[in-house]
Amino acid sequence: MIPVLDLKPAVDELRPALDAAYQRVMESGRFLLGRELEAFEQEYAAFVGARHCIGVANGLEALQLVLLARGIGPGDEVIVPSNGYIATWLAVTHVGARPVPCEPDPRTHNLDPERLASVVSPRTRAILPIHLYGQPADLPAIASFARTHGLFVLEDAAQSHGARCRQGAGGPWRQTGALGDAAGISFYPSKNLGALADAGAITTDDRELADKLRHLRNYGSKVRYVNEYVGLNSRLDELQAAFLRAKLPLLNAWNQRRSALAARYAAALAGVGDLILPYVPGWAEPVWHLYVVRTRQRAALQAHLEAAGIGTQIHYPTPPHLAPAYAGAGWKRGDFPIAEQLAAEVLSLPIGPHHTADQIEAVGASIRQFFGQSR
Ligand SMILES: *Cc1c(COP(=O)(O)O)cnc(C)c1O
Repeated sequence: MIPVLDLKPAVDELRPALDAAYQRVMESGRFLLGRELEAFEQEYAAFVGARHCIGVANGLEALQLVLLARGIGPGDEVIVPSNGYIATWLAVTHVGARPVPCEPDPRTHNLDPERLASVVSPRTRAILPIHLYGQPADLPAIASFARTHGLFVLEDAAQSHGARCRQGAGGPWRQTGALGDAAGISFYPSKNLGALADAGAITTDDRELADKLRHLRNYGSKVRYVNEYVGLNSRLDELQAAFLRAKLPLLNAWNQRRSALAARYAAALAGVGDLILPYVPGWAEPVWHLYVVRTRQRAALQAHLEAAGIGTQIHYPTPPHLAPAYAGAGWKRGDFPIAEQLAAEVLSLPIGPHHTADQIEAVGASIRQFFGQSR
């Protein structure tokens, strides 16, 4: 059996460090807004290369809090990718603004900067690109469009911990989470950096925004019982912060293991059947949160792999505009054909820091067998 995802080996590898983290928090007797959170915020900001990091309860609220802090709400529009995870859209909807979908570049699955001009309006306040599957979106191009139109850029960096991109061939590498005006990050357990429960963070270089976010995550109050804003209760607790501090030092090494496995897939699957493999532009350094292929024979391939004991998943089977949650919003099938086609063809193969090269080779061989192309 080759599982698509198995979180247990990561815990096993880190067990002594996680146990020590747990003991520290139990000894401290402090469970919210304490030293572990402060230390993790500093360590994660340094990792990303951003000035400030604000720990929050999860990735969805990280995005929502930034929009709230910027005063984005009813009557405003926020440009979001037409494909990807619905959380990005929900953050916009929760503050009362309208998500305005923009189709992706089908090669990268990421928001296509060339299409921004066709969706921007006088009501647009922000652009919310996702670094989908751990592949950096073209932030330099998106940010430059945003600057000319006076728009805020909020990165959804929930899947891209450690991914980097650069402007052109010779520019300096910069991490996702430090490319826009602010970024929302998720530490959901299955992310490249995952807590052992829900957790999230915001990164930004903007001190004023960071200060406001520290209040907004805590009932909008700086001084207890003095509530300046209509805030949320969205705090990253001490225990999860301590666990994240134990895991952060291994993130780069784990991302490198994912890259090595992705390279094996690329070699094993090149030119096989009608498979379309992930495309990585020269300016991008992905972290392979997922390894997503496309095929018109997805259902049959998935069944073939399942029968061979190989787990797969579909990220994501329904584009947000066709989700029942948005049934009343006026979108219909055919509105975003690229997102709809991707949703019909994508298949996520097993990849993670604890998969072995042999497992990846076995998946590759099984896929070649399906397409009648054994080597
Ligand atoms: C996981 C994820 C989120 C939401 O994060 P949670 O911590 O689960 O709230 C948002 N956007 C994307 C792209 C994600 O993958």
